[in-house]
Amino acid sequence: MNVLVINCGSSSLKFQLIDAVSEEVLAKGICERIGIDGRLTYQPEGGEKEKSDKPMPTHTEAIQFVIEALMNPETGVVKDLHEIGAVGHRVVHGGEKFASSVVITEEVKQAVTECNELAPLHNPANLIGIEACENLMPGTPMVAVFDTAFHQTMPEKAYMYGLPYEYYEKYKVRRYGFHGTSHSYVSKKAAEIMGKPYDQLKTIVCHLGNGSSVTAVLNGESVDTSMGLTPLEGLVMGTRSGDVDPAILDFLAQKEGFDIPEIMDILNKKSGVFGLSGELSSDFRDLTDAMNAGDKKAKIAMDVFSYRVAKYIGSYVAAMNGVDDIVFTAGIGENDDYVRAQVCSYLDYLGVIFDKELNKGLRGRQVELSLPGSKVRVFVIPTNEELAIARETLALVK
Ligand code: AMP
Repeated sequence: MNVLVINCGSSSLKFQLIDAVSEEVLAKGICERIGIDGRLTYQPEGGEKEKSDKPMPTHTEAIQFVIEALMNPETGVVKDLHEIGAVGHRVVHGGEKFASSVVITEEVKQAVTECNELAPLHNPANLIGIEACENLMPGTPMVAVFDTAFHQTMPEKAYMYGLPYEYYEKYKVRRYGFHGTSHSYVSKKAAEIMGKPYDQLKTIVCHLGNGSSVTAVLNGESVDTSMGLTPLEGLVMGTRSGDVDPAILDFLAQKEGFDIPEIMDILNKKSGVFGLSGELSSDFRDLTDAMNAGDKKAKIAMDVFSYRVAKYIGSYVAAMNGVDDIVFTAGIGENDDYVRAQVCSYLDYLGVIFDKELNKGLRGRQVELSLPGSKVRVFVIPTNEELAIARETLALVK
């Protein structure tokens, strides 16, 4: 069965058509600048990437163009809409309602809408994508795969904040965690590589991308993760601050005359390695070049980032009373050898023996970075959220 995987942002829509049985990607692409002007990038398996400007006032037109591209007589990969058996949608926030993926119904959409407040930038866009697909592909089953679902196994002691209990009761203020699809996918893959049962391992996954999070996976379940009520908590990220002393908010409000939305904008968009590097870049490729050219702030940004990852690993070793394997994934985890080497330089106490030579220049490949005799195994495992969504979708609709 072919599954169309859709990942909708507020002005973009990424897609992949995957044969969910052979797990082959038949075509992929992205619609960008939705609501502004519109650009479609489309690439069939083994074919050339094509870019075209198309008017996309809403996500409905974007999906219409995706379907046209997939059915194009020359470069398309399906002849008929019926060859798309199901659609899998990434949905960012499922709150406490969804501990696993679900087939989308009116009730599910209502429940996702109720989570909009918790992810105002993401959930409304995800819902628009769902409704646009429903309009254009009536009768095709749709599945929602939530970023938060994998973390619903966290115990209370991990998800409760040290705040008055009434805010949890009234508003469900608690930690949720994100990137669940990725943490689940790569932790399972690590168990496969190790040839060990997934439900008997202590794994720490470092998903290091533009947004970054670390998760403790104990016996196949997430027991703690670094993101919280929103994806702002935890690691230092591309432009997000991660953990800060909450009193800084009031301090800056007093000093600079900021209001809360202005402070949130700084914490979300002007902080992280971007802010630390003096607004040089949020991209680790630029920071690496600058660091190698002697830029001190770029080096500080990369070192603060790596140190925070190492501290989270340490706290999750404590949370699980041990660790069997540590996995690096996502854009930075898969590609940035400096960050991986820095993080692992703090892990001698765990008995990690790190292959520095193999790490050098290693990009985007599945590899073991620990040497024989290492007490903890260290892997780079490329994440594949689209494939994970296609698998979940197939399992629910077949
Ligand atoms: P993601 O959010 O997983 O797509 O990761 C995106 C981030 O990965 C980019 O902002 C870069 O910081 C980082 N990245 C991608 N490619 C490389 C690379 N070759 N070397 C270092 N960092 C990279």
